[in-house]
Amino acid sequence: MTVRVRFAPSPTGYLHIGSVWTALFTWMYARRHNGQFILRIEDTDTRRTVPGALENLMDGLRWFGIEWDEGPDIGGPYGPYTQTERAPLYQQWAHWLVDNGYAYKCFATAEELAEMRVLLEARGDHSGYDRRYRDYPPEKVAALEAAGHPYVIRFKMPLDGTSVVPDLLRGDVVFENVQLTDFVLLKSNGLPTYHLAVVVDDHFMKISHVTRGIEWLSTAPLHVQLYKAFGWEMPVWVHLPVILSPSGRGKLSKRTQAFLDSGEKVLVRADEFTRAGYLRDALVNFLVNVGWSFGDDREKFTIEEAIARFDLAAISPAPVKLPYAKLDWLNGQYIQEMPPAALAKAVAPFLAAAGYTVDTAALLPLMPAMSVRLKRLTDAVDFLRFLYEKAPLPPAGEVTDKRLPPAGALAAFTAARNFVQTVQPYDYDQLQAGLNAIGEANTTNGKAGPFLGKMRLAITRQQVSPPLFESMLALGRAESAARLDDVVIALEQLALTP
Ligand code: GLU
Repeated sequence: MTVRVRFAPSPTGYLHIGSVWTALFTWMYARRHNGQFILRIEDTDTRRTVPGALENLMDGLRWFGIEWDEGPDIGGPYGPYTQTERAPLYQQWAHWLVDNGYAYKCFATAEELAEMRVLLEARGDHSGYDRRYRDYPPEKVAALEAAGHPYVIRFKMPLDGTSVVPDLLRGDVVFENVQLTDFVLLKSNGLPTYHLAVVVDDHFMKISHVTRGIEWLSTAPLHVQLYKAFGWEMPVWVHLPVILSPSGRGKLSKRTQAFLDSGEKVLVRADEFTRAGYLRDALVNFLVNVGWSFGDDREKFTIEEAIARFDLAAISPAPVKLPYAKLDWLNGQYIQEMPPAALAKAVAPFLAAAGYTVDTAALLPLMPAMSVRLKRLTDAVDFLRFLYEKAPLPPAGEVTDKRLPPAGALAAFTAARNFVQTVQPYDYDQLQAGLNAIGEANTTNGKAGPFLGKMRLAITRQQVSPPLFESMLALGRAESAARLDDVVIALEQLALTP
């Protein structure tokens, strides 16, 4: 069997991280079996369509490296891939069902339905429909139609027996038909509901495996009945588990935005993860390890390695939570592996977003030291702020130490400023040798350490910062000397103050 799978989002807003998760597994399965991955846009609920959502969605998928073989933008042999462009096909098959006795026209008006609902609810029936048009006499149907009354087409659900949904993760899931209503297939505006569209499209697009959220399992018996009525072969159904919010109460959603133990907001939208400074490869690695496990106790792997062993059948049907804390760890691992130039390029947009004008080349000396310190790319902003902003000088008292009393501090910083102004070349080795010597000569214990710690504070003016020599290289000779000059002036004043 050729594997043909699809991701079928509705363009109703942002890209949810759970959708990326679904899309990833679907896409991986296609790649594993040299099949096709199809992007189909389910936009028949036109009131919910949000302008720009489709572009946003496609950009998001591409960012994650999920490329489709057929889709609304690139076409393909089974297009169009946007459901509103396929309306005639759904109409044709809805009418086929009517003509063959599997469906019927229902003329209930909105008022009629509202009344019906109240009466039914009073009896504890939540179906919302009493099937009053199911066996309506054909001549009355014809008269209503001739008079121009709008209608929907409803499926004639069997009134007894069971519908069995074979689910790859759960086995056969059995539903009592008496529990099911006569679902609407075609709305009065001529557009299909999800139920008709999904069955028609999955059939005509030759979909082999339907991967979708567990929320569709409860209406899957209708889909099974539709396949039966049409006489079409069913796809393999794979209902993916729900992703719960970190609290475990309810599903992960923007509406019930929760907070992590750390006090941070839980990220839900795919673009929130990218803006929070996570790398593509780390995020993909992270998501793929939710509900499926790579095995061998390995948490870190490439997408190619994962594809080589991926199987839809190995996904666990149990509800899952995203282990957010693990993402930070994983992201840190990926950052550590980045060559300095790549890391500089990756952090640059975050610095720019913070309002700084970034010279990527100037960041290079700091990148090896940064790569072991960053968990997220956004962390770079706090570390590197000193490059772009000169914070106020710490009180002169803070650049002295019990091993570097004011007189020694003044001598050391003066020597350091002079040295920095003139040293040739201005490079790591020279800075290290020269400043170590100055420190050793001026501390009471003859060790450079206490002085170098104060130097770092004088240069970066941050409690948390990259190491000294790299910071000085990134800052450049003139600015480093100027910052030391500030310290010299402050210490001179301290010496003058009685
Ligand atoms: N449009 C549906 C959704 O966004 C797709 C479900 C499916 O994949 O069949 O949930």
